[in-house]
Amino acid sequence: MNINPKVINIEISLIRQISIKSREYKDVINLTVGEPDLPIPAKIVEETTIYMKNNRMGYPMLGGSLEIREEIINFYNTKYGSSYKVDEAIVTAGATEAISIALKTILNKGDEVLIPLPFYPGYLPNVDLNGGKSIFIDTTTDELQLTVETLKKHITPKTKALILNYPNNPSGAILSKKNLDEIMEFLRDKDIYIISDEIYSEITFNDDFLSVGKYDFLKEKIILINGFSKSHSMTGWRLGYILTSKELRDQLIKVHQYTITSPSVVSEYGGYIALSKCSDMSSYTKEYQKRCEYVYNRLNSMGIVTLKPKGSFYIFGSLANFNLPSSLDFALDLLDTKHVAIVPGIAFGVEGYFRISCTKSVEILKIALDKIENYIKTYRS
Ligand code: PLP
Repeated sequence: MNINPKVINIEISLIRQISIKSREYKDVINLTVGEPDLPIPAKIVEETTIYMKNNRMGYPMLGGSLEIREEIINFYNTKYGSSYKVDEAIVTAGATEAISIALKTILNKGDEVLIPLPFYPGYLPNVDLNGGKSIFIDTTTDELQLTVETLKKHITPKTKALILNYPNNPSGAILSKKNLDEIMEFLRDKDIYIISDEIYSEITFNDDFLSVGKYDFLKEKIILINGFSKSHSMTGWRLGYILTSKELRDQLIKVHQYTITSPSVVSEYGGYIALSKCSDMSSYTKEYQKRCEYVYNRLNSMGIVTLKPKGSFYIFGSLANFNLPSSLDFALDLLDTKHVAIVPGIAFGVEGYFRISCTKSVEILKIALDKIENYIKTYRS
């Protein structure tokens, strides 16, 4: 096939592949995809439906309506101590589009992008497609903390950007204030962009999450990404946003326009309602926390080491205490024998781990964990 070889070289994510394979079993418990099971707040659906009936649904304003951008910046500035203005926000088709246009805008051939491990698999193909090179920083030996010392070791003259994703998918880790302060201070005089994917910011358990948005002295280099998929269960609405400097926005918006023009007006209005009328989603966070704690305790009692997640709805377990084959073999065998679908660590760039998505009720998680426990016992004996 005579097409861009970079496209031939990328693959559909392993998470999706396992999720698709899991459909072979009727009684499967699918704990793979990060798809919230909690409902979209009714108000969002109700008010958006009325909006659709009463409006013409023309093209939205490039970069997002003034109303939604105002809500976004007010929300971020109030909650996270940033100082964004309306002309520093772009409304995107999910965080996915935001990641894609950010990398497309900044990367030149051969540029290096630093990505802490374990990583969300959505970054890599976008680095590759834009001629960049991903440089991984293993944080598994530092309790999933990126420290300034480790960061320094990976910086070269070709370093173009650092991707941060906290609360982290797949581990739920959050950077400590000390580490984030030191990293930001180190980057103060460097020519390095900071792409901060904060999509799980609203699902944090102890109020210890800090947004990079508060480091105002780095605004010119920060591309902050967030969205509505996780906080408001609005995955199918495909809505996210970027906060950045006005100068960078002027460049990003060109790539955004020629990629999608804009997300749908319907979704945009839904996002506006989400922030203006449903900004308190703490009951959802409590539910995810309860589930994460349940899974964490169960895995610990099986001898599976995990770091307690501080946010998100994922648990990243280690297979270190077990003489199990590769994480992929483990995931496939668990699926085939117990009909429980989880994601192997290798999908996030590290071997010897697996991810459970706590997007099912505790009752269902209990059945899944009983099966995992049973699988592990059989393996041991
Ligand atoms: N970033 C991270 C870390 C994610 O986990 C996900 C989805 O799982 C995304 C981005 C994509 O989000 P969206 O649905 O807004 O495109």
